[in-house]
Amino acid sequence: MSYMIEGKTGPWEIVVGLEVHAQVTSHSKLFSGAATDFGAGPNSQVSFIDAGFPGMLPVINEECVAQAVRTGLGLNAQINLVSRFDRKNYFYADLPTGYQISQYLHPIVGKGVIEVELEGGITKNIGVTRLHLEQDAGKSLHDQSPSKSFIDLNRAGVALMEIVSEPDIRSPEEAGAYLRKLRSILRYLGTCDGNMDEGSMRADVNVSVRKQGEEFRTRCEVKNVNSIRFVMHAVEAEAKRQIELYESGGTVQQETRLYDPARGETRSMRSKEDAHDYRYFPDPDLLPLVLDEAWVAGLKAKLPELPDDKCTRFVRDYKLPPYDAAVLVMEQATAAFYEQVASGRDAKLAANWVIGELFAALNRTGTNIETSPVSAAALGELLDLMADATINGKIAKEVFEAMVETGQSAAAIVESKGLRQVTDTGAIAAAIDQILAANQDKLAEYKSGKEKLFGFFVGQTMKAMAGKGNPALINKILIEKLA
Ligand code: ADP
Ligand code: MG
Repeated sequence: MSYMIEGKTGPWEIVVGLEVHAQVTSHSKLFSGAATDFGAGPNSQVSFIDAGFPGMLPVINEECVAQAVRTGLGLNAQINLVSRFDRKNYFYADLPTGYQISQYLHPIVGKGVIEVELEGGITKNIGVTRLHLEQDAGKSLHDQSPSKSFIDLNRAGVALMEIVSEPDIRSPEEAGAYLRKLRSILRYLGTCDGNMDEGSMRADVNVSVRKQGEEFRTRCEVKNVNSIRFVMHAVEAEAKRQIELYESGGTVQQETRLYDPARGETRSMRSKEDAHDYRYFPDPDLLPLVLDEAWVAGLKAKLPELPDDKCTRFVRDYKLPPYDAAVLVMEQATAAFYEQVASGRDAKLAANWVIGELFAALNRTGTNIETSPVSAAALGELLDLMADATINGKIAKEVFEAMVETGQSAAAIVESKGLRQVTDTGAIAAAIDQILAANQDKLAEYKSGKEKLFGFFVGQTMKAMAGKGNPALINKILIEKLA
């Protein structure tokens, strides 16, 4: 069932295409040797080229080209062995050259595809139209002085990949899943760090709505949204605005809008009539970019195992449900952590613990998989104590909480707190006798057919044994006694 928004005139379908700007991970800029470190002092990483000095000649950074090709390969996309750089001309204070070098008609990467995971184990392919390389602009700072604006050119000339999707996205959920998957692939490849809060990945969100079966209608573009959650909200808010407009007899004008997270709405920034004419033309300072097929093949051979392949392997080798596998492979570090825990152990149990208890603990303590208070080795030891019946699953959760708090090993906590599981059948039988004796009324009910009281007796026995009884033995002895 597809996602629809109910209007006064019936259901409407959402159509979305995303343009993602991803900052290329590289030590220096696309056409200059200036550094790219985040958070450096203003204007401390600016070369003459970035500052637009006359007569400076750009020189392409091979590593940035390699990063774009790796990304294209990771998106199962066509790599164009010949591409070209154009000048996109406009005036802005933070653009000292008066143009941005970009790829307009001949991008380095053509059509590709991203498979996204949706709720209920459904997957969907979203088409990638193209990926091109371009320069970022500088930054105007308006909050440093009451009377002046400042310009920081550190970002000017940093390499960006613009990754454009086909209008294949049909809901806020799909938009979120697409961005999560794209970010995951970029991080695996090491071609962009994907940190949206530092601005190294941001999205322009194109939205239109239509009645089912119609052609596409006019879209609006919501510019520069900087979190996945905001993208999802922007899709929904913009779709609702357009539906209301159509249903009150209006039409949607193609325009650029901004999303205001505080109000949860989009508002107009500029209409199509003010659309820039960028006067694109091939940059006369740069030759066409011609790639060697063998060089591309070399990059392909060195790609890491990507999320989709890892997911397939996890399902095949660890016999995990696809959902578990997809969650575990989202971040490379999580997948590695999981594999260490699962190695030589019950793989499904390991997945449950990583996705359940561990993720909850990371959330609660504000840590992540790299700074986890419980290491993979330590979690593995805890699972071993369950496997050899030293503790049961319920006590294991208690031990895990203590591990998170104290950093001690599972074994040390079990010993110091006396949490060892009771497997002494005599002690278990005695505890059961006490419970049955103290609950004669329930015992009578059970015997007259109320069989679900079995669980009650198990629970009471476990409670009497402070949670330390061996569940299998309690069940077995209880069955014998009730027979
Ligand atoms: P432009 O070059 O003007 O930005 P494009 O055709 O390249 O226009 O499209 C830009 C983005 O808009 C793409 O991500 C595309 O998928 C999306 N898009 C195009 N048409 C529609 C539409 N009718 N509704 C929603 N998104 C659309
Ligand atoms: Mg556009």
